[in-house]
Amino acid sequence: MPTFREMVLEAQRTVPEVTPEAVAAELTAAEPPVLLDVREPDETAEGHLPGALLLPRGQLELEVERLVPRNRRLVVYCQGGMRSLLAGVTLGQLGYTRVASLAGGYGRWSDLGLPSVRPEHLPSEQKARYRRHLTLPEVGEAGQARLLSARVLVLGAGGLGSPAALYLAAAGVGTLGIVDSDRVEVSNLQRQVLHRTADAGRPKTESAREALLALNPGVKVVTFPERLTAASVLRIVEGFQVVVDGGDNFPTRYLLNDACVLKGIPLVHGSVYRFEGQATSLIPGVGPCYRCLYPAPPPAELTPSCAEAGVLGVLPGIIGLIQANEVLKLILGIGEPLVGRLLTFDALTTRFSELALRRDPHCPSCRPGARITLSDTAPTCEVPGARA
Ligand SMILES: [Zn+2]
Repeated sequence: MPTFREMVLEAQRTVPEVTPEAVAAELTAAEPPVLLDVREPDETAEGHLPGALLLPRGQLELEVERLVPRNRRLVVYCQGGMRSLLAGVTLGQLGYTRVASLAGGYGRWSDLGLPSVRPEHLPSEQKARYRRHLTLPEVGEAGQARLLSARVLVLGAGGLGSPAALYLAAAGVGTLGIVDSDRVEVSNLQRQVLHRTADAGRPKTESAREALLALNPGVKVVTFPERLTAASVLRIVEGFQVVVDGGDNFPTRYLLNDACVLKGIPLVHGSVYRFEGQATSLIPGVGPCYRCLYPAPPPAELTPSCAEAGVLGVLPGIIGLIQANEVLKLILGIGEPLVGRLLTFDALTTRFSELALRRDPHCPSCRPGARITLSDTAPTCEVPGARA
């Protein structure tokens, strides 16, 4: 059995060390290394390297494969440079070949006055509420603070908007805007889970606000009890960082798309029809917009009337939550958003499939130099569509 000293010597032989100055220089490179902080939470609370992934040594083997691809260059650090060397050996055993240890650790880094950040501190009642987020390294206190300061607009407090808004409020998205001009009808309640039977006849924005605040009084709900029109859309989307499209007709969908392209706001699309649903994230300048997918609405005669188009009640729940998931990832900057990918779901076979989407270089809305004119047309229902 090797002694501790022998283990450290062996680690020094196998894991290269890098100086803080070299790491600082690397951080501005085109592909900076992943910084992995293996200290305990009480240590990282005092400060850590900018952008570092906080993964205490005890969770390293459990979590690292999920968080860092094996081919990425990794710089591991701890407080003094010893634990990170040993962590480097473990990472080597897990198949990471480009691992270095920060010589002198965070202590040396901060002695040199190199940049560091202090994680956000949440008040204790918020720590309790979001504990299951805080233990995810991809979220943590910094991510939760980002959610709490985020502003998300949900168009429609209907079948898609209901689950999306409920879960976004539960997740602690700090400001939720809800746009809906309708009143609650009993026939909505088969899928619009924001509202209760006793809410029938009330404006949907009102019962939505009540339900969201009852769930999480720490979030702010801004209501827009009005129709989205060419005249109102820019005022409504202003200041929101992500928009969820839970609308139920084509004109609104195109209008919202054009406004989001104009303002550069990511739009998370979802729609449902009978037993089929779809979702994608439309990020201006990064992936296609809605008009790249469907350049123009289908003619009215090819679309069923809104009253005819049925939908299985749980379906908008599934699609709306996929939209909420996209929103959380976009805010947190984690994972792979559904950009350039149209996810479709068949409720009858319980099958998801995915279509690759491309930007249309001639797209009337998002091609370079396009001049967008916001316009209203008469609402129609749609195929495949959202009677959400
Ligand atoms: Zn486009």
